[in-house]
Amino acid sequence: MPPSIPPSSSDRQDFVRVRGAREHNLRDVDIDVPRDTMVVFTGVSGSGKSSLAFGTLYAEAQRRYLESVSPYARRLFQQMPVPDVDTVDGLPPAIALQQQRGGSSGRSSVGSITTLSNLLRMLYSRAGTYPPGLARLEAESFSPNTPMGACPRCHGLGRVHDVTEATLVPDDSLSIRDRAVAAWPTAWQGQNLRDILITMGIDVDCPWRDLPRKTRDWILFTDETPTVPVYPGLTHAQVQAAIANGVEPAYQGTFTGARRYVTQTFANSQSETMRRRAASFMISTDCPVCHGQRLNPDALRVTFAGMNIAAMVALPLGRIRDVLAGVADVGASTQDDAIAIAARRIAADMVARIDVLAQLGLGYLQMDRGVQTLSPGEYQRLRLGTQIHSSLFGVVYVLDEPSSGLHPADTQALLAALGRLCAAGNSLFLVEHNLDVIRHAAWIVDVGPEAGERGGEILYCGPPAGLRDVAASRTREYLFAASQVVAHVPRAPQGWLKLADVRWNNLDGLDVAFPLGVFTSVTGISGSGKSSLVSHALTSIVARALGQALPVAEEEEDPQAPTPETREPEGRVASGLEGIGRLVVIDQKPIGRTPRSNLATYTGLFDIVRKLYARTDLARARRYDAGWFSFNLAKGRCPHCQGAGSVMVELLFLPSVYAPCPTCHGARYRPEVLEVTYRDRSIADVLAMNVDQALAFLSDVPNAATCLSILQRSGLGHLRLGQPATELSGGEAQRIKLATELQKQRRGHTLYVLDEPTTGLHPSDVDRLSAHLHELVGQGNTVIVAEHDMRMVAGGDWVIDMGPGAGEDGGTVVAAGTPAEVAKAARSATAPFLARYVG
Ligand code: ADP
Ligand code: ADP
Ligand code: ZN
Ligand code: ZN
Repeated sequence: MPPSIPPSSSDRQDFVRVRGAREHNLRDVDIDVPRDTMVVFTGVSGSGKSSLAFGTLYAEAQRRYLESVSPYARRLFQQMPVPDVDTVDGLPPAIALQQQRGGSSGRSSVGSITTLSNLLRMLYSRAGTYPPGLARLEAESFSPNTPMGACPRCHGLGRVHDVTEATLVPDDSLSIRDRAVAAWPTAWQGQNLRDILITMGIDVDCPWRDLPRKTRDWILFTDETPTVPVYPGLTHAQVQAAIANGVEPAYQGTFTGARRYVTQTFANSQSETMRRRAASFMISTDCPVCHGQRLNPDALRVTFAGMNIAAMVALPLGRIRDVLAGVADVGASTQDDAIAIAARRIAADMVARIDVLAQLGLGYLQMDRGVQTLSPGEYQRLRLGTQIHSSLFGVVYVLDEPSSGLHPADTQALLAALGRLCAAGNSLFLVEHNLDVIRHAAWIVDVGPEAGERGGEILYCGPPAGLRDVAASRTREYLFAASQVVAHVPRAPQGWLKLADVRWNNLDGLDVAFPLGVFTSVTGISGSGKSSLVSHALTSIVARALGQALPVAEEEEDPQAPTPETREPEGRVASGLEGIGRLVVIDQKPIGRTPRSNLATYTGLFDIVRKLYARTDLARARRYDAGWFSFNLAKGRCPHCQGAGSVMVELLFLPSVYAPCPTCHGARYRPEVLEVTYRDRSIADVLAMNVDQALAFLSDVPNAATCLSILQRSGLGHLRLGQPATELSGGEAQRIKLATELQKQRRGHTLYVLDEPTTGLHPSDVDRLSAHLHELVGQGNTVIVAEHDMRMVAGGDWVIDMGPGAGEDGGTVVAAGTPAEVAKAARSATAPFLARYVG
């Protein structure tokens, strides 16, 4: 073989070789990708990148690994389906860091998943400064989640739920007979308590506020439960006479103080209504013993660098690092005792771990921050940072858009961190859209050309430069564009929405002005306060001012939290509200939490389709109304699976799986409903169509066609109408919401708010999305996005750049103006990146 021809990659040892991959839409494809380097999978949304990287490569690695573990251990994994592929060779063990779909649940914190909490507890235990007389404490004593560490009063919650006279007796002009003690039970039980007080000689007819203080306190707060004879209907004098005369009482009644009644009902009642009623008489305050620091008093007396552990965990990681660096850097000396050695070792370990996280742009996070409050991108980078430090080698990390949520400046740090993972002998498979990351790849696998059935082919597999010649690739146009400049003449604002004194997270009394009738991007490095401003403060202040309710997230019921957090962003609309008729927030939260909601039900398309079927001759003859064509109503749905189309099968020793329903075979309906056809297709056939197919099928049904063509133009042509909401990505959910809004055709004056709408989108899909948003602005509406994609920002009308840093170093407006103006702003971290895109 002449030396100029490289050996076929399939002969090489250092390649992963996939043959015959057919997962989802993949068209029986083969690829060879190198190990120990960074491979990026690109292509438009829905082209099949994830099906290859996660559905095939990672799923196969996991399958092999799980074969080697016990069936018991296997149950603990969230198992991927076995991939549809002929062979995969040369595959190292894989670790997937996927973006979770929908919100993450779970109670872990930044400190626990990074193990920094453990280290910090060890540091306080071994190397803390103890007050005289206090013996050394175990590390667990510094954790609010252990019995020995928790504050004995609040059990480590930091807050106590308690009653006050004002909560128990809301109107003190009432007498006991007129139910002054509102917290007491109503009906018979309330009368019983009143009658007991009569026996005890308490005046139940004078206004509450005129009773002696001692009496009031006893009735409300005593833990005593005296049992006394009860004579219903008698006065105190009559009761005394009855007792003196030996008259039998109606019964013996036992008294319960109001606080005791409320707390016991709250803790023990089986009835949710009763518990809620009890909670309404409680207020939550900082624990009087630990003052919200959650730990037992001894642990709080131990300090390190002058701070107790509660003060330390309240600092951003970057500040903790600075404190510890001082300790870690002190050189060893001969007089070192064991304590100093321990302090240095632990501090050095923590500094190294925090450095990795800080490089990934996460230095502003606090250890006690709950992971549920992190964005998916922050969460993924946190796990990535933890992995980088664990010094594994010979594994492949499969990552889903690690750049999401990152400012271009932070992306450079991410690339450096990923480079170190490779240098340590690992392989990286990334699914990415970010052009800066793609340019950094050693190898590109471009999947396409389009989404779904029109995708699933490998357009290119090789070093980046070679992609330049691949005509079918949509990625190529963006990667090798001659000029990055986005041509756009900014529109002039039609007015201003001014917010004053905004306070939320790191926003501390911010005044900010948003232009109306234009497209505004809020930019800034990760943690600078974009989401706090756009998704939290702006939306809730405007909703409040308009008297409009914001849709609340369906959080899981938390029995530990009686009085839900009523914290709300502070601030007011100073002017400009008259320019806004309505607020619409288009977020990435799922369009539904059960497989019963889907694209068709969410957009209203399914109502149109069901009516269409109800109007067919056969349906009329059989008197089937539209309800018969719903898989959520008993009339027409399959009785075996109740319209789910699948049934759960419990397997011994293995995770339960969903299998197609044996009665309807996944069709979801009774056979007689499926006999009703429209153009030879049943309603189940329609649900199985994707948007493209459905548009062709329903092109002459005006309402349906409008809806479907908007979905298609939103880049959702590949989604099946019946695809369960739970299978959709956050980006897909967001685009469905946007398409549903576009369909409503409002006449302007709506304020649309979106948080990072480009997440998960290929640059060509970003262009489409951008066109849609500008269409809304063209109709007289206002669009405000929090965004990192500089092409999108450059194509907008106005930019508000937050910063200058993250966390407490951010939260202010660094620059505001047209994209061209902000691109020149001296103090802006965004300016240099934006400058590449403005002419
Ligand atoms: P990408 O990662 O390029 O956005 P995916 O690999 O997620 O694309 O999707 C490729 C195709 O496979 C799409 O048509 C998508 O709708 C389909 N698909 C994705 N996940 C599933 C699934 N769990 N079941 C069936 N089809 C799926
Ligand atoms: P960005 O959107 O620019 O990345 P954020 O608005 O998410 O920034 O964060 C700004 C600051 O507010 C950061 O210090 C962040 O840690 C903090 N923060 C954000 N959300 C929460 C929360 N739920 N609880 C506590 N702090 C938060
Ligand atoms: Zn406490
Ligand atoms: Zn069924």
